[in-house]
Amino acid sequence: MAGLSLKNIEKKYPNGFHAVKNLNLEIHDKEFLILVGPSGCGKSTTLRMVAGLEDISSGEMYIGDRIVNEVEPKDRDIAMVFQNYALYPHMTIYDNMAFSLKLRKLSKEDIDKKVKEAANILGIESLLDRKPKELSGGQRQRVALGRAIVRKPKVFLMDEPLSNLDAKLRVQMRTELSKLHQELQTTFIYVTHDQTEAMTMGSRIAVMKDGILQQVADPQTIYTNPTNMFVASFIGSPQMNFIDCKVVKDNGVSLDYKGHNICITKERTKSLEESVYLGKDVVLGIRPENILVNNESPIKAKVEVKEMLGSETYLYLNMDGKNMIARVEPSLQVEIGEVIGLEFIKDKIHIFDKETELRIK
Ligand code: ATP
Repeated sequence: MAGLSLKNIEKKYPNGFHAVKNLNLEIHDKEFLILVGPSGCGKSTTLRMVAGLEDISSGEMYIGDRIVNEVEPKDRDIAMVFQNYALYPHMTIYDNMAFSLKLRKLSKEDIDKKVKEAANILGIESLLDRKPKELSGGQRQRVALGRAIVRKPKVFLMDEPLSNLDAKLRVQMRTELSKLHQELQTTFIYVTHDQTEAMTMGSRIAVMKDGILQQVADPQTIYTNPTNMFVASFIGSPQMNFIDCKVVKDNGVSLDYKGHNICITKERTKSLEESVYLGKDVVLGIRPENILVNNESPIKAKVEVKEMLGSETYLYLNMDGKNMIARVEPSLQVEIGEVIGLEFIKDKIHIFDKETELRIK
């Protein structure tokens, strides 16, 4: 069992910077958990505390049912893969992968078996005699993973392991890491600032901002039920559009945008009617794919840029001075400069509290 439990974890650096604030996070055995957030949000600090490379200021960290606050990194049964690979340049790939096993004084046969097994999993058998400088970035990354795999750790920790690779290789390695996770059946904790990596690889995603955990859930839940405006805008690309509206009651409850009525679902109508939001300003959130072009609609926007990607088209719109993005079918005929009507798919509308930025349930 190698689930992890982070209880009330705080990190204050010696200079007084409060990098992680009251973090509570359960990481399940064998799951692929992604820690995601913008630069400086405390994700690497969190991972380094799990690894034992950084002291925990307060709180408790468990790996399995063992409290590890005071346990040395080497005794935590974890392996960490960094973005700069950290391979020994003068050693062959074989020796790089065998290094930690030699330190542990395993027999030659045992080492050979483990190195070859890992090389086989990663498809790098033919590279074992080379030196790191004779490999491509992607191959080096595989070796770095290989070095972790041979140790059969209970938990793999990865800090932006793909960030030095070019875009195409990154996409390929994403799939390989997902497959590797399935094959190894081990707990993976993976740090990235890239929401696409988070969405495509993780069984669950933990979103952080300013040292505070915002939401932990599976990718679909994060996408469809973001807990606040930060998560809603951070996850999803292009990002969610936000529009200031007011909750009004005419025949029924609806949202008012500059005198135009935006219909919402019956359930939302009911919950808003019973809440404190009647007559109040709120923020409507709508993802680009949930905007329809409907010239009957009184809500108008001007097409400023049209980005054709083949399978889909993005329209960059100006709605009363506000920038919006809509994702439409490539077959849709619209011209740059044209004024179009926008309709928001009713049951895809998110509503947020303007003050707290929390999603209104
Ligand atoms: P990035 O994606 O840029 O690596 P991150 O989310 O991983 O960002 P951390 O490296 O965890 O962020 O850093 C969190 C905050 O703590 C940052 O504001 C950083 O400047 C600060 N910090 C990191 N290390 C130290 C340190 N040794 N002393 C003081 N402050 C630090």
